[in-house]
Amino acid sequence: MRFCNRCGADVSHVVPAGDSLPRHVCNSCGYIHYENPRLVVGCVAEWEGRILLCRRAIEPQLGFWTLPAGFMENGETTAQAASRETMEEAGASIILDAPFAMVSIAHINQVHLFYRGRLATPAYAAGVESLEVLLLNEEDIPWQNLAFRSVTLCLEHYLADRASGTYGFHEAELTPLVFSPVNRSDDTEPAR
Ligand code: ZN
Repeated sequence: MRFCNRCGADVSHVVPAGDSLPRHVCNSCGYIHYENPRLVVGCVAEWEGRILLCRRAIEPQLGFWTLPAGFMENGETTAQAASRETMEEAGASIILDAPFAMVSIAHINQVHLFYRGRLATPAYAAGVESLEVLLLNEEDIPWQNLAFRSVTLCLEHYLADRASGTYGFHEAELTPLVFSPVNRSDDTEPAR
């Protein structure tokens, strides 16, 4: 960051009084630009045992499969974000059951939160960010072509819980990949 969001003056990267980390502080108006992690919210949604997956029409990970998910907007709840993203990307109306998995990805400053839920009706359609949307049986999940590690992790827990008959809540952390056997990513934003 070079210029103040409030007044356009230049900024310094300094530790403000009473703070413990360096921030971008405006040299003119004094505004402190805090940067905090972003929340990505999504859903594992089922219809008659099949799971709703979207193939991405956008970078990053264009062409790879993902659960419907995206950045939470200001002014909405996490449940609203999960429902909105599922409608936008998969054209599906869902009934949310419960939060299911929360994945901290500190090296990209993101937290991914997945609900589990059910389609309200078996209607779905690819939104502008999806090349195609499918309801897939467990054996048809394209494990080698999933877009994000958090999605893989969430689906693994989901299928294990479903098989056991009891759904829990799963907290996990991802650390940077040294080597990926498949082309899988953490970051849901295009490279800058
Ligand atoms: Zn300023």
